[in-house]
Amino acid sequence: MNAFYDMNRETRGKVVQFAKERNYPPPGQIYKVIYAALVVQHKLSLIMREIDQTIDRIMLLNDRIAMSIREGNMTAIVLMKERKDEEKARLARLERLLMRESPMKKEPDKNEITDEMILRAKDYPFEDLLPEGLKRGRCRCPIHAGQNTMSFSVKGNRGRCWSCGWEGDTIKFVQDVQGLTFPDAVRRLSR
Ligand SMILES: [Zn+2]
Repeated sequence: MNAFYDMNRETRGKVVQFAKERNYPPPGQIYKVIYAALVVQHKLSLIMREIDQTIDRIMLLNDRIAMSIREGNMTAIVLMKERKDEEKARLARLERLLMRESPMKKEPDKNEITDEMILRAKDYPFEDLLPEGLKRGRCRCPIHAGQNTMSFSVKGNRGRCWSCGWEGDTIKFVQDVQGLTFPDAVRRLSR
């Protein structure tokens, strides 16, 4: 029951309203399980709504980045990518929050990502990820799929495209090209 009374008045009001709409009994000791569950549901729905909105913004930025690449607007590309990175960081925070608030017990994670795995993934030879390999350290950019066979360069096992502005290590490359999450990219590269 504490969870219910720990909330501010406005949030309590929303939970009570929610209960009323469903003909649940008013808050009280007997119904504390119901109200504790409602509190969790309310919190989760707020987080989920934020996650939805963040994903919408990322999709919109993806469209705008693609448009800017077509227009060759470098300033816009760099700006949008920075904003996309911010939104992705926000999404990761929300996902962690969701896991923390989730009433479901988290399974012990057999597939946990270790620092050692991340290092190994970063050391994966960049060239082996490039469909056409490298010629004198350069190749066609697999990110924006342009025609210039010299636009993408690899140095210190980090890639960079001089046309579209993409820059990153092997993990980011696999994430962006194959659409994997960070843990999945690390798993794939550290095998
Ligand atoms: Zn590129």
